[in-house]
Formats: sequence, structure tokens, C-alpha cells
Amino acid sequence: MTLFDEMRAVGALKEGHFLLSSGRHSDVYVEKFDLLRNPMATSRVCTGFADRFRDERIDVVVGPTTGGILLAFEVGRQLGTMAAYAERASDGSTGREIRRGTTFKSGSRVLVVDDILTTGGSVRETLTVLEQHPVEVTAVAVLVDRSAGATRFGDVPLFALASQKVESWTADECPLCKQGIPLVKPGTTAVS
Ligand SMILES: [Zn+2]
Repeated sequence: MTLFDEMRAVGALKEGHFLLSSGRHSDVYVEKFDLLRNPMATSRVCTGFADRFRDERIDVVVGPTTGGILLAFEVGRQLGTMAAYAERASDGSTGREIRRGTTFKSGSRVLVVDDILTTGGSVRETLTVLEQHPVEVTAVAVLVDRSAGATRFGDVPLFALASQKVESWTADECPLCKQGIPLVKPGTTAVS
């Protein structure tokens, strides 16, 4: 099964007429937690990461809260490596911290994982905090690249299980509104 087949099967990939948090309308919506709260499906999806990086001598899989830590745990389990978790900074700043006594052996090869890539903010924060540790970041791996290749992390290679350019429209220009299809705010019932 492809990632999208798996996501569709667990209800994480929804097709319809959605009001996004940006206020724009779209014909597709991803609720990643419909996947992440299903451990068996998440484990199957993570096999795609493990297969890709099995020969890359990864020592630690690192992910940002919240989806990224679930993926880091499972990918680490499948690769037989350690995992580490990049949490929001406790001082309220926008950065990340790797806390709770986490240490890295010098020269550790790190794989950074996350769920949905859009602007790449949480991954970038994770890479920034890793600069304070004596590690070598081998690659960034995400489930879905919604930037369709626009988001990059310097010299660090990006691997995506799937790429998806999501079209969205303002209410005025939305073709689904013109067809009179009821608008749904994800997580609720129709709003109009
Ligand atoms: Zn619309």
C-alpha cells in the first residue's frame, strides 16, 4: 500500500470541501493524527523510512513534538537505534530543546523525521538544536512533502514518502463553493 492508500484507509486523507485554518478553501485535508493514533498503520508507514535508511548506519532518530516523536520512536525501533525528541523550548521562545538527560555519542549519525512538511519550521528548529550536539545529520525524512519540493534544508538531503501540492482558494474564487458543495471545517460538521 502506498502512503496515501494507508492514510485514506485510516481516514487521515480526506477529500471534500474544507475550510483550512488559513481561511482558504481546499478539496483535500490531512488529519495526521488519524494515522498517528493508529499504531499498526503508523508502524507500516514507518517501514518506508526504515527500508530507505537501513544501510545508512543511523545511530539516533530524532523527531520534533508531537508527530515527529511518535515517528522517531517507531523508526528507531525498526532500525534498532536510539531515538531522541526535540520539544518546544521551556523558556517560551520559538526554539527547540532536546532535554530529559539526552546525550549523543560524538559523531553520531542522526536521521531527523517528521510528519507533514509545509514550511519546515519544526524540522529547521530541530536541526538548529542539533547543532549544539556533536552529531552528523544524515538526512531529513518526512511522510508528506506538501511544499512539493520548495522547502529545503541546506546541504541536508530531504526524503519524503509522498509529495502533495495542495491547491487552495479564497472563498470568492473557490470552485467548490460555486458548485454549492457544503463547506466543512475539519473536526466539525458542515459550516454552510
Ligand atoms: Zn469553497
